[in-house]
Amino acid sequence: MERKLDLIPVSGWGIFPEGQKPLLIAGPCSAESDMQMMETARGLKSAGVNVFRAGIWKPRTHPNNFEGLGPAGLKMLQKVKNELGMKICTEIACEKHLFDCIKFGVDMIWIGARTSANPFLVQEIANALKDTDIPVLVKNPVNPDLDLWIGALERLNQAGVKKLGVIHRGFSTVEKINYRNDPGWSIAIELRTRYPDLPFFCDPSHMAGDRKYLQEISQRAMDLGLDGLMVESHCNPSLALSDSKQQLTPEDFKKLISSLVVRQNDTDSIEYKENIDQLRAQIDIIDENILYILNSRMNISRKIGEYKKEHNIAILQTSRWDSLISSMVEKGKVCGLSEKFITLVFNAIHEESVRAQNEILSKNPPE
Ligand code: PEP
Ligand code: MN
Repeated sequence: MERKLDLIPVSGWGIFPEGQKPLLIAGPCSAESDMQMMETARGLKSAGVNVFRAGIWKPRTHPNNFEGLGPAGLKMLQKVKNELGMKICTEIACEKHLFDCIKFGVDMIWIGARTSANPFLVQEIANALKDTDIPVLVKNPVNPDLDLWIGALERLNQAGVKKLGVIHRGFSTVEKINYRNDPGWSIAIELRTRYPDLPFFCDPSHMAGDRKYLQEISQRAMDLGLDGLMVESHCNPSLALSDSKQQLTPEDFKKLISSLVVRQNDTDSIEYKENIDQLRAQIDIIDENILYILNSRMNISRKIGEYKKEHNIAILQTSRWDSLISSMVEKGKVCGLSEKFITLVFNAIHEESVRAQNEILSKNPPE
């Protein structure tokens, strides 16, 4: 059974400036030096950022790479807080990290993608968070498993964490794609739909893996109405000790944010409301028609199943199906429907037909 989450709205966290849209978190992948941290933070502050991020413990794929400065980096983060008045946040992966963060006045933490995939660690962190008031953002697990993501939120919420939000950073994939991680937007949309009150950030940096894709991904996040962005920024990206390709200078960060078209979640415009209601009513009618048509199709499919059974014919006729799909794809293209969409829809229909025909066949197997 799905549990409701007991949440405190992000406006009550005392972290983000009032009315900021999108909510902004930015800073380097890793804390490297006092100079790098202060210069980056100053640039970001003047670009309108109030929440500064920096990785302190870095989960690197291979050993012997830079793995973060640990508590020495926390000291640098604290300096940003004390000298520039910014809120500071970092990634934690175990209770020891949390205790160190509390010692150094960290204002918000996030659980990284590799850690949120591990219920043991999430539970350990949740237990350690009892009786604290620190806001927690949970990145999606590296694998596209919505339940695992929700499970991590439930563990934290059950431990009393109400200042809770998520960061969508995409999923590992074996397929070759332009981005470092597969956005898998449908999973984000599903989570957003189930928990509309959960503060929702997008991390275009880890999704993209390359700064040239940051704009399109950030705009997509805005188009979906997500609440905020976490972006990696470094005063000198080419010298960064981790994720050098995806970081951008504070000046470029400023350009990125001002290029975004930010969508409103609601409007008072009566004209808009009337038009949208009309369009939604049309969609409802079309959706009902789709249901009737699917039902008629399934009835015919079952009849075919009976007929095949009578004549002892195998259910799966792959050549017929291949030609049907390619003809639908062609027709779809003419009306501007993508091959991916048509294939997905018709494969689902086909799967259900085969299932129904199998049921018929197994009810009374031929003598
Ligand atoms: C990070 O934010 O620096 C990081 C390591 O991200 P992720 O957990 O998304 O890989
Ligand atoms: Mn990084």
